[in-house]
Amino acid sequence: MKKVYFKTFGCRTNIYDTQVMKSKLSEFELTEDEKEADVIVVNSCTVTNGADSGVRNYINQASKRGVKVIMSGCGAFNKGQTFLDAGKVFGVLGHSKKHEINSLLKSDKPFLELGDLKSLDEEVITSFHGKTKAFLKIQEGCNFRCSYCIIPYVRGNSRSHEIKDVVYQTQKLVEQGFSEFVLTGTNIGSFGKEKGTSLGELLQHLGSIKGVKRIRLGSVEPVQIDESFKEVLKEEWLERHLHVALQHTNEEVLRIMRRRNHLKEDLELFWYLRDMGFALGTDYIVGHPGEDEKNWQIGLENFKKFPITHLHGFIYSKRDGTPSASMKSSVNGDEAKKRLKTLQNITKKNNFDFRKENKVPLLVQIESYKKGFFNGYDQFYNLIHINSDKNLLKSWQEIKEYEIKEEFNEANL
Ligand code: SF4
Repeated sequence: MKKVYFKTFGCRTNIYDTQVMKSKLSEFELTEDEKEADVIVVNSCTVTNGADSGVRNYINQASKRGVKVIMSGCGAFNKGQTFLDAGKVFGVLGHSKKHEINSLLKSDKPFLELGDLKSLDEEVITSFHGKTKAFLKIQEGCNFRCSYCIIPYVRGNSRSHEIKDVVYQTQKLVEQGFSEFVLTGTNIGSFGKEKGTSLGELLQHLGSIKGVKRIRLGSVEPVQIDESFKEVLKEEWLERHLHVALQHTNEEVLRIMRRRNHLKEDLELFWYLRDMGFALGTDYIVGHPGEDEKNWQIGLENFKKFPITHLHGFIYSKRDGTPSASMKSSVNGDEAKKRLKTLQNITKKNNFDFRKENKVPLLVQIESYKKGFFNGYDQFYNLIHINSDKNLLKSWQEIKEYEIKEEFNEANL
């Protein structure tokens, strides 16, 4: 049997898509060693020009070794044809063609099978080998058109799975022993909008499944935190941490970015959630066109007013084919790094203060054992290191006594 190796670039959605392809692969053997692979499937990311070059380098090296390379993922849509024409890849497989992976990988003729950007995978992933948390992909695509983002053009508009299918998948995973779930998708807050339902409604269904202990959420947009979502905020199965993507805290920059959120409402929302006990994460892009010195300073002063405890900060990177790519950025690389560091330091302090002010028992599922410590994330999505003689892997622990360190919490059990 021929051996296939999967190389995944990019976000959780791509990791999930790789899982879908692996679960469909019945006529090949999976290998974790790329050197012994007969075929390499490169599940690509095209979110920035930098992501493109990472994929390009990998494909160039693999094709030089003479291995059969198949390209899938977001890059297939805007770069697949070019790679195919240059003979760098043997085939290109679009998102909606994942279920045909066996026949396409067996093909002896080069192929470009992009499929469409309207369909949704029918595959239901009911096992995640070696993982403590199970990932549920609940929707695909995005209806927003943020000016820096290529994602809607390579993943299409938002379309959602049926609630009953997500419930079925969750039940199957509970039967396999999973109790912690992470909801993912391109823009999960859009869930169900086209069907007259909502993320809040889906969460109500999932939270009532026996055996579901905790649900974590990927990123949601501020404007998507509607009444139905607010109704589930008190549920104990919902993690006490939300990731709400602001991207910026300067109103003028937000408008240049064509974001749907507004500073005043964002600030109210964050304090509303903070007052309910949530730790709050956000995405933030520094150095986007329009973030001149004056706008940066205004944005920084605003940022300080937000109770942000977790930061996913990026330095703006030009993505060809987006409106932002034609705008001029006045921020050089060193300055952008400095700005990012400033935001990271503020967040680090906020996180430390949050843990000191909120010293409550922590509920943790142990995910790994590294360098003499068991590790896991608590309900606020903070890391805890645990010292223990027992094997705690995959167990749930309620931890009442722990030490709050600057970067993480620590306990002895
Ligand atoms: S919300 Fe904006 S940044 Fe997020 S995927 Fe959609 S267009 Fe991209």
